[in-house]
Amino acid sequence: MIDKFGRKIDYLRISVTENCNLKCIYCIDENNILNSCNNDILTDDEIVKIATECERLGIKKIRITGGEPLVRKNIESLIYKLKCINGMEEIYITTNGVLLHTKIEDLKKNGLTGVNISLDSLNKDRFKKLTKFDKLQDVLLSIDKALELGLKVKINTVIVDDINKDEIIDFVNLTKDKNLDIRFIELMPIGAAKNYKGTSNEEINQIINKNFKNIKVENKSKRSGPAKYIRIDNYKGKIGFISPISSCFCEDCNRIRLTSTGFLKKCLHYNYGVDLKKHIRSNISDKDLNELIYSNIYDKPQEHLFMEDCDNKENKYMNQIGG
Ligand code: SAM
Repeated sequence: MIDKFGRKIDYLRISVTENCNLKCIYCIDENNILNSCNNDILTDDEIVKIATECERLGIKKIRITGGEPLVRKNIESLIYKLKCINGMEEIYITTNGVLLHTKIEDLKKNGLTGVNISLDSLNKDRFKKLTKFDKLQDVLLSIDKALELGLKVKINTVIVDDINKDEIIDFVNLTKDKNLDIRFIELMPIGAAKNYKGTSNEEINQIINKNFKNIKVENKSKRSGPAKYIRIDNYKGKIGFISPISSCFCEDCNRIRLTSTGFLKKCLHYNYGVDLKKHIRSNISDKDLNELIYSNIYDKPQEHLFMEDCDNKENKYMNQIGG
């Protein structure tokens, strides 16, 4: 469907849990981990009901996120149910990759189109420092397994000044022989991330330009979203830049977010939206649910203003929103 600013909205991000099996320093508030109780969280049937109405409104792509989506019970069957929605074209998952190698075959069988794996360090000790867990080997195994199964694989990397800036070249080098894309995502000042300084994509691009020759700009593909891509000549994978801070891409925004507790969020930056769980649990009709979702999508804010103070700014942590 088209929102009031003429943008085509065809992508729904669904967070299925706030819980996570890693504790990334810029994502989760370690001192205040909120574990929603089961009744707060949408059931599989409720998620499918909302996704079905979203599909009727033109949503064709879903991304499952969290917290860590793979810690949700029966995530494989939820993926299957979402893939079975008539007209739904693509189902992706964003995961930290720790459990992925144990579930990926079933996920693929059940209709998963591709995976985004979040990884901020290729160094065992640093990975542990960033995430509080010694799980790098599991993530690397998951990447290889996903590639072996022929799934689309993207690695999402956040570069934080003074922490992992020296690994930019190593991440780019992963695209040489592996058929995967690396995307550098600028750190947004949300939740715990307010305590850190992210490296701008402009600076990352300069570092890449200094260290590699024959860099080509890639054309935008269908639903490539806000990422701008380059490729080192003859390398298998691309390098993407998602720059919510240094270059606002809101005019191309194509997405809406559903939190695990059933709140339909109009924009990452603001707390605007509607509590769909409340309506579903009061037996709203499909038609009224559809209209409610329509009016909220239609009314998406024009743009985020991360660096400015404003009313209605989101104050949740990223694990509660899903990125
Ligand atoms: N647990 C899953 C994972 O690790 O991919 C899904 C949830 S996690 C919140 C999704 C993504 O958000 C991760 O790639 C993480 O690095 C990113 N993220 C978290 N906080 C962020 C922030 N403040 N700015 C930019 N990206 C952030």
